[in-house]
Amino acid sequence: MALIVQKYGGTSIANQERIQAIAAKVKKFRQNGDDIVVVVSAMAGETNKLIELAKAIQPQPQPRELDVLMATGEQVTIALLAMALEQIDCPARSYTGWQVSIHTDNAHNKARIKNIDTDKIFADIAAGKVVIIAGFQGIDTQGNITTLGRGGSDTTGVAIAAALNATECQIYTDVEGVYTTDPRIEPKAQRLDNITFEEMLELASLGSKVLQIRAVEFAGKYKVPLRVLSSFKDGPGTLITLEDDTVETVRISGVTYSRDEAKLTILGVPDRPGIAYGILGPIADANIEVDMIVQNVTADGTSTDFTFTVHRNDYPKAMEILQASAKTFGNGKVTGDTHIVKISLVGVGMRSHAGIAAKMFQALAQEGVNIRMISTSEIKISVVVDEKYLELGVRTLHDAFELDQEP
Ligand code: ADP
Ligand code: ASP
Ligand code: MG
Repeated sequence: MALIVQKYGGTSIANQERIQAIAAKVKKFRQNGDDIVVVVSAMAGETNKLIELAKAIQPQPQPRELDVLMATGEQVTIALLAMALEQIDCPARSYTGWQVSIHTDNAHNKARIKNIDTDKIFADIAAGKVVIIAGFQGIDTQGNITTLGRGGSDTTGVAIAAALNATECQIYTDVEGVYTTDPRIEPKAQRLDNITFEEMLELASLGSKVLQIRAVEFAGKYKVPLRVLSSFKDGPGTLITLEDDTVETVRISGVTYSRDEAKLTILGVPDRPGIAYGILGPIADANIEVDMIVQNVTADGTSTDFTFTVHRNDYPKAMEILQASAKTFGNGKVTGDTHIVKISLVGVGMRSHAGIAAKMFQALAQEGVNIRMISTSEIKISVVVDEKYLELGVRTLHDAFELDQEP
């Protein structure tokens, strides 16, 4: 008998029919003798609606109050799923994050799980019940409701699986697993049977929202067997694995993209030690994460243009800070661009194969896609391009590396 944690995302429980379908699915697992703990998201689109409601009243709502509001989405679905299960004679019990309790730090809107009480969960399992837990939410030491960042129900699922030492954590979504790229952008994308934690971490951090990055981190750290599957269609899904020989031979596993990018440049800064720190220090102090950085020295070698990217949400704040810095360091000129995207190629095979970057740049050049910035790590190459090239860029790379072929 296995203990399985199943997480269902927003589209999987978007309406009454879907909730009833999930209840039937869960009941089947129970009839096979498995113990099931379910983690659910809010219905598709609900969290966005709640955020809109908040912003209509206060453009920059207090993070604490936003958490109180956003956490309501998941409270609806846990109760409805518990009712749907009870209705088909499958005993179930729902819990909000704070009822469980899922303890987090106090970083509202992006809290991290610290520990989870398992007593109630184990007691209900022992009593033959399906336990249903609200994803995306927890409670801090002061009793405040917290949320875990967008897509955070994935992390709740994995954290619960780790705390319960579950046999497997299954993430049910609206696609059949992890694909070579977003199947909504490239219909020729192929489902991967497995992918390493390391590659999945890169994909998640570079924009692929099929799994929240913290969920992957958690699963890697606590060695939780993790699988992504469709809630609409039966199938093997994708298993996230520790690296093994079969995976090593795969050169490239996927292409991913992020629309959440913005670029800022400060022009004509003096070329001397301490400048990078002088520019980026205040940005870091404002809790803004910087991603790519490029510095170009002018032909006469006396000054440089300093460019970096941030999350699009942080752009206005970063621009304000940079304009202040320009008075101290630069010739006063700052430029910015929010119409850019990042496209990345990921694969553990990059370690052992040369020429991948050249092939990537050639493929983009042949399609007339201009590369604005480049960054690399051991297993990924990212380029920043104009927003209008997003689909073309993703499809071009997917073709160039023959990712549409059966793995
Ligand atoms: P859920 O609501 O179930 O959490 P999400 O919308 O958060 O679902 O994540 C699933 C979506 O992730 C898919 O519909 C797909 O468009 C997108 N996606 C992006 N990259 C990939 C990828 N490489 N493989 C599979 N899905 C991907
Ligand atoms: N409902 C939350 C969101 O939309 C959490 C999740 O779906 O994972 O981000
Ligand atoms: Mg999600």
